[in-house]
Amino acid sequence: MEKDLKKVFIKTYGCQMNDRDSEAVAQDMEKSGYTLTNEETEADVLLFNTCSVRDQAERKAMGKIGLIKRYQKNKPNLKVGVIGCMAQSKGEEITEKYGHVDVVVGTDQLHKIPELLEKAEKEQTQIVSRGLSRDILDRLAVHPEGQISAQISIMRGCNEYCTYCIVPFTRGQEKSRPIASIITEVKALVEKGVREIMYLGQNITAYGIIEARKERKYDKEVSPFAELLRETAKIDGIKRIRFTSPHARYFNDDLINTIAAEPKISRMIHFPLQSGSDKILKLMRRRHTGADFMEWVNKLKDRVEGVTFSTDLIVGLPGETDEDFEATRQMCNEIDFDQEFIFRYSKRRNTPAAKMPNQLDEDLKMERNQILLQDLADRLTAKNEKLVGTIQEVLVEGPSKRNSERWNGRNVNHKIVIFDPNDGVKVGDMVKIKIDMGTQHSLYGEYLEHSEDS
Ligand code: SF4
Repeated sequence: MEKDLKKVFIKTYGCQMNDRDSEAVAQDMEKSGYTLTNEETEADVLLFNTCSVRDQAERKAMGKIGLIKRYQKNKPNLKVGVIGCMAQSKGEEITEKYGHVDVVVGTDQLHKIPELLEKAEKEQTQIVSRGLSRDILDRLAVHPEGQISAQISIMRGCNEYCTYCIVPFTRGQEKSRPIASIITEVKALVEKGVREIMYLGQNITAYGIIEARKERKYDKEVSPFAELLRETAKIDGIKRIRFTSPHARYFNDDLINTIAAEPKISRMIHFPLQSGSDKILKLMRRRHTGADFMEWVNKLKDRVEGVTFSTDLIVGLPGETDEDFEATRQMCNEIDFDQEFIFRYSKRRNTPAAKMPNQLDEDLKMERNQILLQDLADRLTAKNEKLVGTIQEVLVEGPSKRNSERWNGRNVNHKIVIFDPNDGVKVGDMVKIKIDMGTQHSLYGEYLEHSEDS
């Protein structure tokens, strides 16, 4: 490897899955002799880990990649890689448009980046690599030191083909890792001090189903994902288990009962609704109705003490009327989500929704987005104020970013709790905090004592 290809800067666009991929790529690059830098201008290699889920994210990344050509005038040896979802979906389109991009590396080839950069340098050529690799996640099971909370990718891809979504085309078909490999990774992380595990996958509640079907062992009453959760909860040292992103239709009794029985599993469940209108859910191909969704929510509320929900919503799918939007609004208020990731629909190429008639204008989408945000703000402020006087069990994360004299952590519903640190409190401890103020985004309180299992 050339000695001047030393410092690498990675810019990540999009979701948590991409964050985790970038984290693993960074570790992999370090193992190959690179050092990481947070300063783009210092870098010898720039990697752009791209997202295709929204048009805006793609445009932002493309704009940035175009601008890099200017840097190369002062730094002719600067190497540029476009990796991840956009690399997977656009491939040669990127190398043709941008002569200064050296490597384009798809979602299943990320472990090959050091080798591909070296090849591009040696052969003075542009390389596009987009093949499928079933064991990519095992290959990228590398983590930084010093984490309290670690993200682990347990499956990749999606077979749902929701009509608005590009993920099945960029991440391919579902592939799940074996439980044994994941548990080995968790145990190694616990040895390094990790207390919270965040499992990641594009369609995480379908974890293991394709594999079980291939082995003719699939039973729709049984959730392979629930089995993984139960195995993870048995590991001493793990205090919290979280996961994203699920599809509501896989919340069978096995999974719901596992969540109910295992207090280590976060009581904030991500539960993507997308729309409250049956007509729009059908156009989206979500394969459930609003009534089905409410049935699952009610089961979770009945069986899981103190459960709260976050969700994904799309406003402005083609054909969404005022009545359809009102149905979404009503369901959001009825379920009382604590967090909403609201997306204004944007056309994604090769997806059925991009060709649907009655595309909506941006102002209307924006207006509907704002209405949902305001409803959420009103509900949350009232809800958090009601928590004043309660005692919350908090996993300590460390000094608050806004005011380092105060510390923060998360309660079992993943709410931020801010408190004055006591001398005996360390990062990773479980402590009891008495809440004296609740605002829209945070709870504030006073340290009482360490929890029994801290
Ligand atoms: S389930 Fe999620 S990732 Fe899969 S196609 Fe639908 S929206 Fe996309």
